[in-house]
Amino acid sequence: MIKLGLIGAGGIGRMHTDIIMNQIPGAEIVAVSDISAENRAKITDQYPSVKSFDDPHELIKSSLTDAVIVTTWDRTHEEFVTASIKAGKHVFCEKPLADTTKACVNIMEAEIAAGKRYLTVGFMRRYDSGYVQVKEAIDSGRIGRPLLLHEQHRNAHPTGEKHTTDMSANGALVHEFDITRWLTGDEYEMAQLICPRSTRNADEDLIDPQMVILRTKGGIHVDLEIYMNCIYGYDIHCEVVGEEGCASLPDPANAVIRENGARLYKIDPVWVNRFADAYVTEMRDWIKCVEKDSLTGPSAWDGYAAAAAAEACTRSRLAGGQVVKVEMMDKPEFYR
Ligand code: NAP
Repeated sequence: MIKLGLIGAGGIGRMHTDIIMNQIPGAEIVAVSDISAENRAKITDQYPSVKSFDDPHELIKSSLTDAVIVTTWDRTHEEFVTASIKAGKHVFCEKPLADTTKACVNIMEAEIAAGKRYLTVGFMRRYDSGYVQVKEAIDSGRIGRPLLLHEQHRNAHPTGEKHTTDMSANGALVHEFDITRWLTGDEYEMAQLICPRSTRNADEDLIDPQMVILRTKGGIHVDLEIYMNCIYGYDIHCEVVGEEGCASLPDPANAVIRENGARLYKIDPVWVNRFADAYVTEMRDWIKCVEKDSLTGPSAWDGYAAAAAAEACTRSRLAGGQVVKVEMMDKPEFYR
């Protein structure tokens, strides 16, 4: 039984806890820490065997925990991830790995110094059966070489920490930045972020929607829409246009209802439902890797590459939508 400590008992921390406690036979949450005593209590009330820690670093060091899950706010990830690596414990960190490339580099350096992979990043879309089918269509060669990707990321409303303009790229679009690299096996070269008129439904600190255009080193064109306050639901699309065919992410299998002169198809209101199976598969896979002490999921390098795309987008926005280079260090041998 793998004994896990959770740091961050907010929305996704509690979702991972429920998955682990009810659907993963080989693991259990034994400890929780969060600056919010109220959120911590939501876990310990539901699962009284879980020990509550005031200090996340005590949880990391504790002999109670074999491995750590970090689900706090983005800017706190670096601190808890590096502490876990230094303690010699496997750590699963929610996306984004960190809010800057510098922080991602610090994490990679800690892991390289530790001499083995300890970190897995929560890019759960890689575990979604729809994305897996799209990847199979590319890898099998049946649609030819990918030429274009059209992607759309719409949220009814932002959840968790108050959402700002930077967070659209750093926090939300990192899913697309990662899945596009994973699907194509290519790295980014150029980026452009364009801001059209903003919706009146966004907070004053958020420009929403935003459009991103990326070009990969292999010459693939990627266009991404991010719209955090679309109101009507959580709606994710991805289409890969290849030389001999196209592959599209399937919509969730919801029934089409015909009533009152309309044909209706349910769109999930929030992210939790849309990728529910992927979160379970992701966690199962991570626990198996921890048991074997050999990681295969998204790495610190993947977290860094997504952060580099996000940073380039922010530079482009601040430069009035200019096309900018995606600045990336050479890939360390350790991650090859
Ligand atoms: P949330 O509901 O706000 O939960 C975050 C929790 O962390 C809150 O309880 C917060 O306490 C606590 N916290 C913040 N700073 C802390 C610190 N320094 N030490 C200890 N606890 C701290 O946010 P969320 O939606 O769960 O998101 C958490 C992370 O998961 C984010 O990185 C987010 O990007 C990621 N996420 C990933 C997905 C996905 O699809 N993979 C989906 C959602 C979120 P307070 O509330 O008191 O500040």
